[in-house]
Amino acid sequence: MPIDPDFQTKRQVVGEHNGHKVWGPVEAPQKLGIHGTTSAVDWDSCIGDGVCIDVCPVSLYDWAESPGHPLSERKSDPARENDCIQCLACEMQCPAQAIKITPPP
Ligand code: SF4
Repeated sequence: MPIDPDFQTKRQVVGEHNGHKVWGPVEAPQKLGIHGTTSAVDWDSCIGDGVCIDVCPVSLYDWAESPGHPLSERKSDPARENDCIQCLACEMQCPAQAIKITPPP
């Protein structure tokens, strides 16, 4: 299932990870929520493909381990979301449509 583009109005922030927000619900290890806000990755959609890591011109993403998650044992983590230049390459190429890029306010 693709990331919900309206997650910022429908979900609550339940924590922080690696300098970015985590939008719930989170029930680890099966349900991990959405990581990041302006560069957001739905870890419950992410299949660990890694094309976002490969195409991002500013190396914004890191791998994070997600053992026990039903879709993949690693996820793309928006570790440096403030570096995003809004090129949309990651959002367009993600095979799982797990990424939503939003211009900063
Ligand atoms: S929109 Fe471009 S710069 Fe921003 S995270 Fe995606 S690939 Fe990187």
